Amino acid sequence: MVKRIGVLTSGGDAPGMNAAVRAVVRKAIYHNIEVYGVYQGYQGLISGNIKKLELGSVGDIIQRGGTMLYSARCEEFKTLEGQLKGIEQLKKHGIEGLVVIGGDGSYMGAKKLTEHGYPCVGVPGTIDNDIPGTEFTIGFDTALNTVLDSIDRIRDTATSHERTFIIEVMGRNAGDIALWTGLAGGAETIIIPEEGFSMDDVVARLNKGQERGKKHSVIVVAEGVMSGTEFAEKLKEATDMETRVSVLGHIQRGGSPTAADRVLASRLGARAVELLLDGKGGRAVGIEANKLVDYDIIQALAMKHQVDLDIYRLSKELSI
Ligand code: ADP
Repeated sequence: MVKRIGVLTSGGDAPGMNAAVRAVVRKAIYHNIEVYGVYQGYQGLISGNIKKLELGSVGDIIQRGGTMLYSARCEEFKTLEGQLKGIEQLKKHGIEGLVVIGGDGSYMGAKKLTEHGYPCVGVPGTIDNDIPGTEFTIGFDTALNTVLDSIDRIRDTATSHERTFIIEVMGRNAGDIALWTGLAGGAETIIIPEEGFSMDDVVARLNKGQERGKKHSVIVVAEGVMSGTEFAEKLKEATDMETRVSVLGHIQRGGSPTAADRVLASRLGARAVELLLDGKGGRAVGIEANKLVDYDIIQALAMKHQVDLDIYRLSKELSI
């Protein structure tokens, strides 16, 4: 019977991580299990920055962006020595299982702990939506809404000045943020790493729009393809069209989580605790068709995240 578990957040932060931490803590305490917070990700694990969390420790955080446990990147944890130091700290604190909330890098760390025989459960927390084994990650929906708000505002000025705007969004190597916000924001063109593009095609679409009297155009470019500025330069080479570039940057990572992210984070965090209580370490939790799922973490990492190309095709059809 597990008596004490730990929780950490690692890698890039995402809105909803706090809601996940809250769910882990409250679910564990509900089952009379003690919970320890590991601060600053794997860095804090190695250095022993570990404190007991109570019900009240996670009060008033469900609505906050960022993570109350802080996050960090930790090169040392990629080494065997670093991982063994981490396990030593967990054992020293009597922690019998760990919930890791983070992106695929953080999952790699959890996978390593699992391979050393220490039970870990991964919870997908990243705005990029690029984690295999789940259709949605915690923070993605909030990031979409943040980007969408910007696209709507940029569209206003694009219309007033009859301009073409290029908006660069995050996503690392995944095109999900660009794709979903492009569709929801009515972008004329969406450029994602998963699909090639031809500048001739982009220009033809812009021209066609202008011919039918469109006052503006919005092109959403995923950072995984190239920067917005680079795209603007290439477009300028192909046509003498005047463009403006907007790089949304880190605003996409902040803000109060949406209802969808709070609910997702609460469900996934609670499920991670259930798995540890059932003695099931080495799992990664996710959501598919609105049902909670879990995979072997090693298997999950071997799977490939797929962008929804139906959405890509639809966006092309609707932006003619
Ligand atoms: P994210 O979790 O958002 O993808 P990173 O890729 O920076 O962010 O990973 C977060 C942390 O996870 C790293 O700083 C490191 O401590 C740990 N990590 C990443 N890759 C590995 C690995 N191969 N082995 C062990 N730990 C890793």
